[in-house]
Amino acid sequence: MQTRRKTHEESCFSGLKAVIKKSGTTENPDILFHACPRYRKGNHCNYFKWVDDDDYQEWLKVEQRKIKKLIYRLKMTIMNGG
Ligand SMILES: [Zn+2]
Repeated sequence: MQTRRKTHEESCFSGLKAVIKKSGTTENPDILFHACPRYRKGNHCNYFKWVDDDDYQEWLKVEQRKIKKLIYRLKMTIMNGG
């Protein structure tokens, strides 16, 4: 049996793990794309790729997990009185 494994990790042109960003342009609002992790700094490599559906689902899962953890932590903080 052949198992095809899709990797959700994109690498930018400089070989770094690409980060997922949300587009803020009016033509493409709230669309996710992969970008160079150094995009904020001057020396990034201009890597750019739209996120496909599979990657989007994966990203959603990760974000939802992060939010759940955050809510849990907040609840604990409130219950313990800070
Ligand atoms: Zn890069």
